[in-house]
Amino acid sequence: MLIKQLLSLLSCTLTIASVCLCRCSIMSSLSVLPPECLLQPFPVPQRLMLGPGPSNVPARIIAAGAQPMLGHLHAETIEIMNQVKSGIQYAFQTRNRVTLAVSGPGHAAMECAIFNSLEPGESILIAVNGIWGERAAEIAERIGTDSNVRTVAKPEAEDKLDKLDKYRPVVFFLTHGESSTGVVHPIDGIGDLCHKYNCLFLVDSVAALGGTPICMDEQGIDIMYTGSQKVLNAPPGTAPISFSERACQKIFNRRTKPISYFLDMSWLANYWGCDDKPVRAYHHTGPVSSFYGLRESLAILAETGLENSWKRHKEVAEYFHKGLEEMGLKLFVQEKKARLPTVTTIVAPPGYDWREITGYIMKTFNIEISGGLGPSAGMVLRVGLMGCNSSKANVDKVLEALADALKHCHKSRV
Ligand code: PMP
Repeated sequence: MLIKQLLSLLSCTLTIASVCLCRCSIMSSLSVLPPECLLQPFPVPQRLMLGPGPSNVPARIIAAGAQPMLGHLHAETIEIMNQVKSGIQYAFQTRNRVTLAVSGPGHAAMECAIFNSLEPGESILIAVNGIWGERAAEIAERIGTDSNVRTVAKPEAEDKLDKLDKYRPVVFFLTHGESSTGVVHPIDGIGDLCHKYNCLFLVDSVAALGGTPICMDEQGIDIMYTGSQKVLNAPPGTAPISFSERACQKIFNRRTKPISYFLDMSWLANYWGCDDKPVRAYHHTGPVSSFYGLRESLAILAETGLENSWKRHKEVAEYFHKGLEEMGLKLFVQEKKARLPTVTTIVAPPGYDWREITGYIMKTFNIEISGGLGPSAGMVLRVGLMGCNSSKANVDKVLEALADALKHCHKSRV
Protein backbone atom coordinates (compact mmCIF):
# COMPACT_ATOMS: atom_id res chain seq x y z
CA MET A 1 0.00 0.00 0.00
CA LEU A 2 2.80 2.36 1.00
CA ILE A 3 4.72 1.50 -2.16
CA LYS A 4 1.59 2.19 -4.26
CA GLN A 5 1.17 5.60 -2.58
CA LEU A 6 4.87 6.45 -3.11
CA LEU A 7 4.67 5.48 -6.79
CA SER A 8 1.60 7.64 -7.32
CA LEU A 9 3.30 10.61 -5.58
CA LEU A 10 6.37 10.13 -7.75
CA SER A 11 4.35 10.04 -10.95
CA CYS A 12 2.49 13.17 -9.86
CA THR A 13 5.77 14.98 -9.17
CA LEU A 14 7.14 13.91 -12.56
CA THR A 15 4.02 15.19 -14.32
CA ILE A 16 4.31 18.58 -12.57
CA ALA A 17 8.04 18.72 -13.41
CA SER A 18 7.44 17.94 -17.08
CA VAL A 19 4.64 20.53 -17.29
CA CYS A 20 7.02 23.07 -15.71
CA LEU A 21 9.78 22.18 -18.17
CA CYS A 22 7.34 22.53 -21.03
CA ARG A 23 6.15 25.93 -19.82
CA CYS A 24 9.73 27.10 -19.29
CA SER A 25 10.54 26.47 -22.92
CA ILE A 26 7.52 28.59 -23.99
CA MET A 27 7.46 31.25 -21.27
CA SER A 28 10.77 32.68 -20.16
CA SER A 29 11.68 32.51 -16.49
CA LEU A 30 13.61 35.81 -16.94
CA SER A 31 12.23 38.82 -15.12
CA VAL A 32 12.91 41.24 -18.02
CA LEU A 33 10.93 40.09 -21.05
CA PRO A 34 11.75 40.75 -24.72
CA PRO A 35 10.41 44.25 -25.42
CA GLU A 36 7.15 44.17 -27.40
CA CYS A 37 8.34 47.09 -29.56
CA LEU A 38 11.24 45.01 -30.88
CA LEU A 39 8.99 42.18 -31.96
CA GLN A 40 7.71 44.18 -34.90
CA PRO A 41 9.58 46.04 -37.65
CA PHE A 42 10.24 49.78 -37.43
CA PRO A 43 9.59 51.49 -40.78
CA VAL A 44 11.92 54.49 -41.15
CA PRO A 45 10.32 57.35 -43.13
CA GLN A 46 11.90 58.98 -46.17
CA ARG A 47 12.78 62.60 -45.42
CA LEU A 48 14.54 65.40 -47.22
CA MET A 49 17.36 66.16 -44.80
CA LEU A 50 18.05 69.87 -45.20
CA GLY A 51 19.26 70.55 -41.67
CA PRO A 52 22.93 71.02 -40.75
CA GLY A 53 23.49 67.22 -40.97
CA PRO A 54 23.16 64.36 -41.38
CA SER A 55 22.35 64.85 -45.06
CA ASN A 56 20.55 62.28 -47.20
CA VAL A 57 22.60 59.23 -48.09
CA PRO A 58 22.46 58.33 -51.83
CA ALA A 59 21.37 54.77 -52.70
CA ARG A 60 24.87 54.02 -54.00
CA ILE A 61 26.44 54.69 -50.58
CA ILE A 62 23.71 52.74 -48.77
CA ALA A 63 24.31 49.81 -51.13
CA ALA A 64 28.06 49.96 -50.50
CA GLY A 65 27.47 49.80 -46.74
CA ALA A 66 25.18 46.78 -47.15
CA GLN A 67 27.91 44.60 -48.72
CA PRO A 68 29.01 41.41 -46.91
CA MET A 69 30.91 41.72 -43.66
CA LEU A 70 34.67 41.18 -43.74
CA GLY A 71 37.20 40.92 -40.95
CA HIS A 72 38.50 44.31 -39.93
CA LEU A 73 42.04 43.23 -40.81
CA HIS A 74 41.28 41.13 -43.90
CA ALA A 75 43.33 42.03 -46.97
CA GLU A 76 40.26 43.48 -48.75
CA THR A 77 39.34 45.66 -45.75
CA ILE A 78 42.90 46.95 -45.63
CA GLU A 79 42.70 47.73 -49.35
CA ILE A 80 39.42 49.60 -48.77
CA MET A 81 41.06 51.54 -45.91
CA ASN A 82 43.99 52.42 -48.20
CA GLN A 83 41.54 53.70 -50.81
CA VAL A 84 39.70 55.71 -48.14
CA LYS A 85 43.07 57.23 -47.24
CA SER A 86 43.71 58.25 -50.87
CA GLY A 87 40.20 59.69 -51.10
CA ILE A 88 40.76 61.78 -47.97
CA GLN A 89 44.11 62.99 -49.34
CA TYR A 90 42.25 64.16 -52.46
CA ALA A 91 39.37 65.76 -50.53
CA PHE A 92 41.82 67.53 -48.17
CA GLN A 93 44.34 68.29 -50.95
CA THR A 94 47.20 66.85 -48.96
CA ARG A 95 50.04 64.38 -49.40
CA ASN A 96 50.21 63.73 -45.65
CA ARG A 97 51.19 60.14 -44.89
CA VAL A 98 49.25 60.22 -41.62
CA THR A 99 45.75 60.46 -43.06
CA LEU A 100 42.93 58.21 -41.89
CA ALA A 101 39.33 58.04 -40.67
CA VAL A 102 38.63 57.97 -36.95
CA SER A 103 35.94 55.47 -35.90
CA GLY A 104 33.41 57.93 -34.55
CA PRO A 105 31.61 61.18 -35.33
CA GLY A 106 33.15 64.63 -35.84
CA HIS A 107 33.58 64.98 -32.07
CA ALA A 108 35.87 61.93 -32.05
CA ALA A 109 38.14 63.59 -34.63
CA MET A 110 37.99 66.82 -32.64
CA GLU A 111 39.15 65.00 -29.51
CA CYS A 112 41.72 63.04 -31.52
CA ALA A 113 43.23 66.28 -32.87
CA ILE A 114 43.32 68.05 -29.50
CA PHE A 115 44.26 65.13 -27.26
CA ASN A 116 47.19 64.11 -29.47
CA SER A 117 48.60 67.55 -30.19
CA LEU A 118 48.41 68.99 -26.69
CA GLU A 119 50.12 67.80 -23.49
CA PRO A 120 49.17 68.80 -19.94
CA GLY A 121 50.45 72.29 -19.19
CA GLU A 122 50.76 73.34 -22.85
CA SER A 123 48.68 76.19 -24.25
CA ILE A 124 46.11 76.21 -26.99
CA LEU A 125 44.61 79.31 -28.59
CA ILE A 126 41.07 78.89 -29.89
CA ALA A 127 39.19 81.21 -32.25
CA VAL A 128 35.60 81.34 -31.06
CA ASN A 129 33.29 82.26 -33.93
CA GLY A 130 30.38 80.05 -32.85
CA ILE A 131 29.71 76.90 -30.84
CA TRP A 132 32.59 74.84 -32.26
CA GLY A 133 35.29 77.04 -30.78
CA GLU A 134 33.49 76.84 -27.44
CA ARG A 135 33.34 73.05 -27.80
CA ALA A 136 37.06 72.86 -28.62
CA ALA A 137 37.80 74.82 -25.43
CA GLU A 138 35.60 72.43 -23.43
CA ILE A 139 37.59 69.49 -24.82
CA ALA A 140 41.00 71.11 -24.32
CA GLU A 141 40.22 72.01 -20.70
CA ARG A 142 40.11 68.28 -19.92
CA ILE A 143 43.84 67.95 -20.59
CA GLY A 144 45.28 70.38 -18.08
CA THR A 145 44.49 73.61 -16.35
CA ASP A 146 41.90 75.95 -17.84
CA SER A 147 44.41 78.78 -17.87
CA ASN A 148 46.22 77.09 -20.76
CA VAL A 149 43.13 77.40 -22.94
CA ARG A 150 42.90 80.93 -24.36
CA THR A 151 40.21 82.05 -26.70
CA VAL A 152 40.18 84.80 -29.25
CA ALA A 153 36.80 86.16 -30.19
CA LYS A 154 37.71 88.41 -33.09
CA PRO A 155 39.03 86.39 -35.96
CA GLU A 156 41.03 89.28 -37.51
CA ALA A 157 44.68 88.52 -38.22
CA GLU A 158 46.14 91.29 -35.99
CA ASP A 159 44.24 89.94 -33.03
CA LYS A 160 45.57 86.44 -33.61
CA LEU A 161 49.09 87.74 -34.03
CA ASP A 162 48.82 89.56 -30.74
CA LYS A 163 47.59 86.49 -28.91
CA LEU A 164 50.09 84.13 -30.57
CA ASP A 165 52.86 86.40 -29.41
CA LYS A 166 51.44 86.80 -25.92
CA TYR A 167 50.45 83.21 -25.07
CA ARG A 168 52.85 81.23 -27.28
CA PRO A 169 50.33 78.40 -27.79
CA VAL A 170 51.44 75.08 -29.28
CA VAL A 171 48.15 74.80 -31.20
CA PHE A 172 45.82 77.34 -32.80
CA PHE A 173 42.27 76.04 -33.42
CA LEU A 174 39.94 77.51 -36.04
CA THR A 175 36.57 76.39 -37.38
CA HIS A 176 36.51 76.72 -41.17
CA GLY A 177 32.73 76.43 -41.63
CA GLU A 178 30.85 77.47 -38.50
CA SER A 179 27.60 75.54 -38.83
CA SER A 180 26.03 77.33 -35.83
CA THR A 181 26.39 80.82 -37.30
CA GLY A 182 26.70 80.04 -41.01
CA VAL A 183 30.07 81.76 -41.37
CA VAL A 184 32.97 80.56 -43.52
CA HIS A 185 36.30 81.69 -42.12
CA PRO A 186 39.16 82.65 -44.46
CA ILE A 187 42.20 80.39 -44.06
CA ASP A 188 44.91 82.04 -46.19
CA GLY A 189 47.95 83.33 -44.31
CA ILE A 190 47.07 81.84 -40.92
CA GLY A 191 49.27 78.76 -41.35
CA ASP A 192 52.37 80.89 -41.99
CA LEU A 193 51.53 83.08 -39.04
CA CYS A 194 51.22 80.05 -36.74
CA HIS A 195 54.47 78.54 -37.98
CA LYS A 196 56.30 81.80 -37.30
CA TYR A 197 55.39 81.24 -33.65
CA ASN A 198 56.14 77.51 -33.73
CA CYS A 199 52.46 76.75 -33.37
CA LEU A 200 50.42 74.06 -35.14
CA PHE A 201 47.42 75.19 -37.18
CA LEU A 202 44.38 73.00 -36.46
CA VAL A 203 41.24 73.36 -38.61
CA ASP A 204 37.73 71.96 -38.09
CA SER A 205 36.18 71.58 -41.54
CA VAL A 206 33.33 69.24 -40.54
CA ALA A 207 30.61 71.40 -42.06
CA ALA A 208 32.55 72.86 -44.99
CA LEU A 209 34.87 70.28 -46.54
CA GLY A 210 33.94 69.44 -50.13
CA GLY A 211 31.47 72.35 -50.27
CA THR A 212 33.89 75.28 -50.21
CA PRO A 213 37.58 75.52 -51.11
CA ILE A 214 40.27 74.44 -48.66
CA CYS A 215 43.69 73.00 -49.57
CA MET A 216 45.47 71.58 -46.54
CA ASP A 217 49.08 71.54 -47.79
CA GLU A 218 48.95 74.78 -49.73
CA GLN A 219 47.37 76.66 -46.83
CA GLY A 220 49.81 75.37 -44.23
CA ILE A 221 47.25 73.48 -42.18
CA ASP A 222 48.86 70.99 -39.77
CA ILE A 223 45.81 69.09 -38.57
CA MET A 224 42.42 68.99 -40.25
CA TYR A 225 39.34 66.85 -39.82
CA THR A 226 35.83 66.54 -41.19
CA GLY A 227 32.72 64.40 -40.70
CA SER A 228 31.16 61.79 -42.98
CA GLN A 229 27.54 62.94 -42.72
CA LYS A 230 27.66 66.42 -44.27
CA VAL A 231 28.96 67.10 -47.81
CA LEU A 232 30.29 63.54 -48.09
CA ASN A 233 26.72 62.16 -47.69
CA ALA A 234 27.83 59.02 -45.84
CA PRO A 235 26.10 57.95 -42.61
CA PRO A 236 27.48 59.58 -39.44
CA GLY A 237 30.16 57.62 -37.62
CA THR A 238 33.50 58.03 -39.41
CA ALA A 239 35.62 61.16 -39.35
CA PRO A 240 38.47 61.78 -41.83
CA ILE A 241 41.55 63.41 -40.28
CA SER A 242 45.08 64.24 -41.44
CA PHE A 243 48.35 65.35 -39.77
CA SER A 244 51.21 67.23 -41.46
CA GLU A 245 54.87 66.21 -40.95
CA ARG A 246 55.21 69.15 -38.54
CA ALA A 247 52.23 67.87 -36.55
CA CYS A 248 53.68 64.32 -36.57
CA GLN A 249 56.95 65.62 -35.13
CA LYS A 250 54.96 66.94 -32.21
CA ILE A 251 52.47 64.14 -31.66
CA PHE A 252 54.91 61.24 -32.01
CA ASN A 253 57.51 62.81 -29.67
CA ARG A 254 55.35 63.42 -26.63
CA ARG A 255 56.53 63.25 -23.02
CA THR A 256 53.19 61.80 -21.93
CA LYS A 257 50.65 59.47 -23.46
CA PRO A 258 47.46 61.10 -24.79
CA ILE A 259 44.62 60.89 -22.26
CA SER A 260 42.58 58.69 -24.60
CA TYR A 261 43.77 55.20 -25.52
CA PHE A 262 41.07 54.90 -28.19
CA LEU A 263 42.19 58.08 -29.96
CA ASP A 264 45.95 57.64 -29.47
CA MET A 265 47.47 58.42 -32.88
CA SER A 266 50.44 56.10 -32.38
CA TRP A 267 47.92 53.23 -32.35
CA LEU A 268 45.64 54.66 -35.04
CA ALA A 269 48.52 55.47 -37.41
CA ASN A 270 49.55 51.81 -37.20
CA TYR A 271 45.99 50.53 -37.62
CA TRP A 272 45.71 52.60 -40.81
CA GLY A 273 49.15 51.60 -42.11
CA CYS A 274 50.54 55.14 -41.80
CA ASP A 275 53.69 54.12 -39.95
CA ASP A 276 56.71 52.09 -41.05
CA LYS A 277 55.74 48.95 -39.15
CA PRO A 278 55.25 45.88 -41.39
CA VAL A 279 52.06 44.70 -39.67
CA ARG A 280 48.90 46.37 -38.48
CA ALA A 281 48.16 45.49 -34.88
CA TYR A 282 44.69 45.05 -33.44
CA HIS A 283 43.70 48.28 -31.74
CA HIS A 284 39.90 48.22 -32.01
CA THR A 285 37.40 46.64 -34.38
CA GLY A 286 36.88 49.32 -37.03
CA PRO A 287 33.36 49.97 -38.38
CA VAL A 288 33.93 47.89 -41.53
CA SER A 289 30.57 48.63 -43.21
CA SER A 290 31.02 52.33 -42.55
CA PHE A 291 34.41 52.18 -44.28
CA TYR A 292 32.66 50.72 -47.37
CA GLY A 293 30.22 53.64 -47.29
CA LEU A 294 32.94 56.23 -46.75
CA ARG A 295 34.94 54.78 -49.65
CA GLU A 296 31.90 55.14 -51.89
CA SER A 297 31.25 58.73 -50.82
CA LEU A 298 34.88 59.65 -51.52
CA ALA A 299 34.58 57.88 -54.90
CA ILE A 300 31.58 60.09 -55.74
CA LEU A 301 33.60 63.19 -54.79
CA ALA A 302 36.52 61.99 -56.94
CA GLU A 303 34.18 61.43 -59.91
CA THR A 304 32.48 64.82 -59.43
CA GLY A 305 35.77 66.66 -58.94
CA LEU A 306 36.42 68.96 -56.00
CA GLU A 307 36.29 72.16 -58.04
CA ASN A 308 32.93 71.18 -59.56
CA SER A 309 31.61 70.40 -56.09
CA TRP A 310 32.79 73.77 -54.70
CA LYS A 311 31.26 75.56 -57.72
CA ARG A 312 27.90 73.77 -57.41
CA HIS A 313 27.62 74.48 -53.67
CA LYS A 314 28.39 78.17 -54.28
CA GLU A 315 25.88 78.54 -57.12
CA VAL A 316 23.12 76.67 -55.29
CA ALA A 317 23.72 78.67 -52.08
CA GLU A 318 23.59 81.97 -53.98
CA TYR A 319 20.37 80.89 -55.73
CA PHE A 320 18.94 80.05 -52.30
CA HIS A 321 20.04 83.33 -50.72
CA LYS A 322 18.49 85.31 -53.56
CA GLY A 323 15.23 83.39 -53.18
CA LEU A 324 15.17 84.03 -49.42
CA GLU A 325 15.71 87.74 -49.87
CA GLU A 326 13.00 87.91 -52.53
CA MET A 327 10.64 86.36 -49.97
CA GLY A 328 11.52 89.13 -47.53
CA LEU A 329 13.62 86.93 -45.25
CA LYS A 330 16.95 88.19 -43.90
CA LEU A 331 20.23 86.36 -43.97
CA PHE A 332 22.00 86.18 -40.61
CA VAL A 333 25.44 86.71 -42.18
CA GLN A 334 25.36 90.06 -43.91
CA GLU A 335 28.71 90.00 -45.64
CA LYS A 336 28.24 87.91 -48.80
CA LYS A 337 31.70 86.41 -48.91
CA ALA A 338 31.49 85.34 -45.25
CA ARG A 339 28.42 83.16 -45.98
CA LEU A 340 29.02 79.43 -45.69
CA PRO A 341 27.68 77.75 -48.86
CA THR A 342 26.84 74.49 -47.07
CA VAL A 343 24.78 75.76 -44.12
CA THR A 344 22.70 78.93 -44.41
CA THR A 345 21.52 80.83 -41.37
CA ILE A 346 18.30 82.85 -41.79
CA VAL A 347 17.26 85.41 -39.21
CA ALA A 348 14.30 83.85 -37.37
CA PRO A 349 11.25 85.61 -38.89
CA PRO A 350 10.05 88.22 -36.37
CA GLY A 351 6.76 87.42 -34.65
CA TYR A 352 7.00 83.68 -35.31
CA ASP A 353 8.04 80.81 -33.09
CA TRP A 354 10.90 79.14 -34.99
CA ARG A 355 9.91 75.75 -33.53
CA GLU A 356 6.47 76.04 -35.09
CA ILE A 357 8.06 76.78 -38.48
CA THR A 358 10.47 73.81 -38.40
CA GLY A 359 7.68 71.56 -37.06
CA TYR A 360 5.25 72.70 -39.76
CA ILE A 361 7.78 72.12 -42.54
CA MET A 362 8.54 68.66 -41.22
CA LYS A 363 4.87 67.74 -40.86
CA THR A 364 3.63 69.23 -44.11
CA PHE A 365 6.59 68.74 -46.44
CA ASN A 366 8.64 65.99 -44.80
CA ILE A 367 11.65 68.31 -44.93
CA GLU A 368 14.07 68.77 -42.03
CA ILE A 369 15.39 72.25 -41.39
CA SER A 370 16.61 73.30 -37.96
CA GLY A 371 16.79 76.13 -35.47
CA GLY A 372 19.97 77.75 -34.16
CA LEU A 373 22.64 76.17 -31.99
CA GLY A 374 24.75 77.58 -29.15
CA PRO A 375 25.15 81.33 -29.69
CA SER A 376 22.58 81.34 -32.51
CA ALA A 377 19.89 79.39 -30.58
CA GLY A 378 16.50 81.08 -30.94
CA MET A 379 17.91 83.60 -33.40
CA VAL A 380 18.05 81.71 -36.68
CA LEU A 381 16.73 78.95 -38.89
CA ARG A 382 19.43 76.77 -40.41
CA VAL A 383 19.23 75.09 -43.79
CA GLY A 384 21.90 72.70 -45.03
CA LEU A 385 22.41 72.04 -48.76
CA MET A 386 25.26 69.57 -48.76
CA GLY A 387 26.63 67.06 -51.26
CA CYS A 388 23.79 65.43 -53.19
CA ASN A 389 21.34 67.76 -51.43
CA SER A 390 22.98 70.82 -52.97
CA SER A 391 20.63 71.34 -55.93
CA LYS A 392 18.37 74.10 -57.23
CA ALA A 393 15.44 71.64 -57.14
CA ASN A 394 15.92 71.29 -53.36
CA VAL A 395 16.19 75.06 -53.00
CA ASP A 396 12.82 75.43 -54.75
CA LYS A 397 11.31 72.85 -52.39
CA VAL A 398 12.58 74.51 -49.24
CA LEU A 399 11.60 78.00 -50.43
CA GLU A 400 8.07 76.76 -51.15
CA ALA A 401 7.94 75.11 -47.70
CA LEU A 402 9.15 78.29 -45.97
CA ALA A 403 6.63 80.49 -47.82
CA ASP A 404 3.84 78.11 -46.87
CA ALA A 405 4.99 77.99 -43.23
CA LEU A 406 4.97 81.79 -43.01
CA LYS A 407 1.37 81.77 -44.32
CA HIS A 408 0.14 79.11 -41.92
CA CYS A 409 2.15 79.47 -38.70
CA HIS A 410 0.95 81.75 -35.94
CA LYS A 411 2.30 85.30 -36.16
CA SER A 412 2.14 87.62 -33.20
CA ARG A 413 2.22 91.38 -33.61
CA VAL A 414 5.78 92.69 -33.25
N1 PMP B 1 32.34 70.76 -36.05
C1 PMP B 1 31.41 71.32 -36.83
C2 PMP B 1 31.73 72.59 -37.56
C3 PMP B 1 30.15 70.74 -36.96
O1 PMP B 1 29.22 71.33 -37.73
C4 PMP B 1 29.88 69.53 -36.27
C5 PMP B 1 28.52 68.84 -36.38
N2 PMP B 1 27.44 69.66 -36.48
C6 PMP B 1 30.89 68.98 -35.46
C7 PMP B 1 32.10 69.62 -35.38
C8 PMP B 1 30.65 67.73 -34.67
O2 PMP B 1 30.38 66.64 -35.48
P1 PMP B 1 29.54 65.37 -34.93
O3 PMP B 1 28.16 65.85 -34.64
O4 PMP B 1 29.62 64.41 -36.07
O5 PMP B 1 30.23 64.88 -33.72
